[in-house]
Amino acid sequence: MAPAICSRNPFVSTRAEPAKSLTLAEKQWYHKLIFNGVEGELTTEKKALIFDVQRYSVHDGPGIRTLVFFKGCPLRCKWCQNPESISKQREIAFFSNKCIGCGECAKACPKGAITFEGPGRINRSLCDRCGKCTETCYAEALVTVGKEYAVSDLLDVVERDRPFYRQSGGGVTVSGGEPTAQFSFLLDFLKAAKAADLHTVMETCGSCAWSKLEQLLPYLDLIHFDLKIIDAKAHRRHTGAGNRSILTNARKLVESSANMVFRVPLVPGMTATSENVLDIIDLLSEFEHDRIHLLPYHKMGESKLERIDSTLEPLNLEPLSDEDVAAIKVQFEAAGISVLIGGG
Ligand code: SF4
Ligand code: SF4
Repeated sequence: MAPAICSRNPFVSTRAEPAKSLTLAEKQWYHKLIFNGVEGELTTEKKALIFDVQRYSVHDGPGIRTLVFFKGCPLRCKWCQNPESISKQREIAFFSNKCIGCGECAKACPKGAITFEGPGRINRSLCDRCGKCTETCYAEALVTVGKEYAVSDLLDVVERDRPFYRQSGGGVTVSGGEPTAQFSFLLDFLKAAKAADLHTVMETCGSCAWSKLEQLLPYLDLIHFDLKIIDAKAHRRHTGAGNRSILTNARKLVESSANMVFRVPLVPGMTATSENVLDIIDLLSEFEHDRIHLLPYHKMGESKLERIDSTLEPLNLEPLSDEDVAAIKVQFEAAGISVLIGGG
């Protein structure tokens, strides 16, 4: 069975350090590359807040891939499977099933933000996300979500699986969140990745300035572009933002012959309505674009909401049946659009 929307990343501890580091000479080479030959200290290199790096993925582009999840997203989709990606800031997640009630976090917290009342552990109105509680929580019930990486550090992690990429035709996929929300770092990272001869894929919601997307194009081998809802009002109602720039960017990418695949999350009553499916078929026909990925909704991301005290409400919808998904697939195929269920 192909994967649904994405089961990509549980919250992970940010304590793990890379097993292997680039040599100083390699770091200096990347640094020169990134700064166009200008000498400088490595500490001046740009940094990005990344909330997960997932190795050995086979669903987010060709071959075996390393997925890099950027923090921050301009949308706020009701069905978001990575709610920890939405905020641009570092967050503290609480896993109630791991808490042993030792109280060490309360002793460590300088803000008096630890509470033992209610299901959570943190009074978010007092917490400044300093992370001191996570350092003392040996049960790993409190975990920091979001870790800063410099370009060379991220490449260091991605490079570890180069033998797998070579054998499988894989590479690195930047995802999120919305990777373009940390544009300056992203551009440098993709430049360095291409200079290191890595295959690059970007998963994007498409909500960013065209001038930014245009700059990224020379360094992207493939774009996975999310098409959610075509009707502007419904898009705003279910994602918290308009879709004008998204549709404009989709059109411009097609016109510039970018190698891209549109992906549609199938959320009952939101994106998987008969009107929206027809609207998307019409748009792809107008674009003369003949392939799409359909990503059926699942509930797996909703358990993450209470860990970060998200203000998003769990949808708790029943996923579409296999028959319903198959019927939508047939609609696209009848319009000459080939369909892959799940990522790929
Ligand atoms: S330190 Fe961790 S395990 Fe101990 S009470 Fe706090 S959250 Fe629970
Ligand atoms: S992150 Fe800092 S302020 Fe927030 S609960 Fe933990 S120790 Fe307290």
